[in-house]
This record gives sequence, structure tokens and C-alpha cells, in this order.
Amino acid sequence: MRNIPLLDLKAQYQGIKNDVNKAVEAIFNSQSFILGAEVVALEKEIASYCGVKYAVGVASGTDALKISLHAAGVGRGDEVIVPSFTFMATAGAASELGAIPVFVDIDPKTYTIDPSLIEKKITGKTKAIIPVHLYGQCADMDRILEISRNRKVPVIEDCAQAIGATYGGRKAGSFGLAGAISFFPSKNLGAFGDGGMITTQSEEFAGRIKVLRVHGSAVRYVHEELGYNSRLDNLQAAILRIKLRALDTWTKARQENAKFFDSELSKIKGVVVPYLTAKNTHVYHQYVIKVDKARRDGLISYLENSGIEARVYYPIPLHLQKCYRSLGYKKGDLPNSEDSADSTVALPVYSELTMPDKKYIVEKIAEFFRKGV
Ligand SMILES: *Cc1c(COP(=O)(O)O)cnc(C)c1O
Repeated sequence: MRNIPLLDLKAQYQGIKNDVNKAVEAIFNSQSFILGAEVVALEKEIASYCGVKYAVGVASGTDALKISLHAAGVGRGDEVIVPSFTFMATAGAASELGAIPVFVDIDPKTYTIDPSLIEKKITGKTKAIIPVHLYGQCADMDRILEISRNRKVPVIEDCAQAIGATYGGRKAGSFGLAGAISFFPSKNLGAFGDGGMITTQSEEFAGRIKVLRVHGSAVRYVHEELGYNSRLDNLQAAILRIKLRALDTWTKARQENAKFFDSELSKIKGVVVPYLTAKNTHVYHQYVIKVDKARRDGLISYLENSGIEARVYYPIPLHLQKCYRSLGYKKGDLPNSEDSADSTVALPVYSELTMPDKKYIVEKIAEFFRKGV
């Protein structure tokens, strides 16, 4: 039996160990830990990588969302449109500001927010729309940006899972007023701890973020507004700069793995492989298949017993979470989100996966459906 985790960061580390250890030692010798030269350099490199003018480091992807919303004018009692089928942080960032997440259903093929459902959720209180580029594929940005222009509601892109993904040839994070990137260790570009970054084309917006991340202070010890303690560590930036150099190679490997799974798994009756729209390139943060609801958990157990780790992202859509009970949503309100939560499963797709690993995963899934267990 093979043993294939969902993600193997130890294998990735082996390939960059010498560079990382050297960079970390240099930071230790400099004893400069918060913000610093590596952060400034990473901000330039990420801006260039994402095809935007500015990028500003913050403490996490959640903070990147929250501070972007704050800078976009979102506050207590305002409404923020978000998909329900996403990680908690997308809506949680709005809630932290006292704003109300307004949940919208997804397109069941792409798992991203359904633009045709956004417009009727816009009210006089709507201050932002957060499309999530879930699993590594951009949401339908043409239609979302059109709504944004028509209704004068800014777009903050949740790029936590999509660094490097393109839509119409442009990178995730270059479409909205801002893009929120996460460097959580398991993301495609992961730090050795928490970290995040905000991308934007606006000099004014970038400047505002730089003030907000250091307690609302443009000049040291002078505070014209209330801000946050949300800074990126120099240490994390140094590591991320090394990893950024390898990101496209790692992404290519993920895409090759996905291509293999697409062609092999689509032969299995009962498995729906990820749907890629014509405008998108997918970076496969997760490789997610859809199966019959009644068999999903059985498949996960079967894979687990075969040494393959598989997981559901995400088992409970946000509109049905206990923490949002006061918002009054009920089962059936967002059927595509609920259905996707019950019928999807993420398979290992990380860059270091070997061909025997991939063949083994396909073989075990085929076996499960053949046996009818
Ligand atoms: C990871 C993630 C976040 C939050 O990022 P953190 O760095 O963990 O705070 C936000 N949205 C989505 C979709 C994510 O996957």
C-alpha cells in the first residue's frame, strides 16, 4: 500500500532547503524581523508577478481581505456580497468589520460565485463584492466587473487559492480594486507561518493599506485613524522570495497532474472532473471531483483505507454555519452550494506527486466504483 498525503510540504522543502536556510540565517544575523528589506523586495516581486502596480504585505490572507474591505469603505452595518461555498475567512473578514455577509450561490460547474445571482442581492448598503477564485480558477470576472461598474460597488478578489491563475490572459488579483493573497503554509505559495498580501493598481489604495497595517499611522507615533497590527515578517518574506522563483515550475507540475487525472478519471462512470472555462488557466490549489452524494463519504473512507488522503473543501456552506444562524438562512436557500458541499472531494495534486502515485490514486477510485462498495 502507498501512503499519499493530501499535501507533502516536506518534499517541497527538500528542494529549497539550502537557499531557505541561508536566507533565514541572514535574517537572524540582521535581527530585522518586522517588515524590512525582504518585505519591500517581495512586494515588488509579487506586484510584478500579478501584473499590478502595487502589493502590500500584511499578516495573513484574512487580514488582506479585512484591511482591503476597510480601505474600500466597508464598516458596521454595511453589506458585502460573498459566495457561500468558500473558506470561512471570506465572510469572516467582513464580519470582523461589523459588516454583514450576503451569501450568493455558486455555479455548480466552476464552484465560483454565480454572477447572474449577484445583482438582485445588491442593496443601498452593499459596499463590496468578494468573488473567490476557488480551488485556483478565477470567477467569471467579465460579468462581475460589469456589475461592479454599473452598480458602483468595488470588487475585492479573494485570491488566497489562486496565485498565478489567469483569466483572459491576466493574473488573479489584477481585476478588482484589490486582490487578497494568502501565504498560509498549505497555499500554492506558502510561508513558514502566517502571511498575506494585497495587490492593487491604485497608488492611493496601496498607501491607505500601508497606513492601516501599522495602527493607522503614516508618520511614526502620529495616528490620524484607527488601524491594525498586521505586518508581514521579514523572515517570511525572505522564504517566500525563494519559493516565488519556483512557483511557476510547481504550478506546471500541478497542472500536469491535473491533466493526467482529467483524462483518466473522466473514463470512470460516476466521477465528474473539474470544469475549466475557456478564459481560465487553473492553478489547482485543489483538484476537486464531484461524485454521487450517497457515495462521497464511502469513497473518502475507501481512499483512506488505501493510504490516500482525500478531503472535503468545504463540508458546510457558510450560510448554514452556526456562527451565521442570526442571519436567518436555511437549508435549501443556496442549493448549488449545499449540493457541492455534499458531493465534492479533493484529491492529492501537489507538485511532487509521482506517476506511480497518480496511477495508484486513479486505480483505487476506479476500483471503488467498479466494486460498488
Ligand atoms: C486560506 C484562505 C483564506 C485566508 O487566508 P489566511 O492566510 O489563512 O488568513 C481566505 N480565503 C480563502 C478562499 C482561503 O482559502
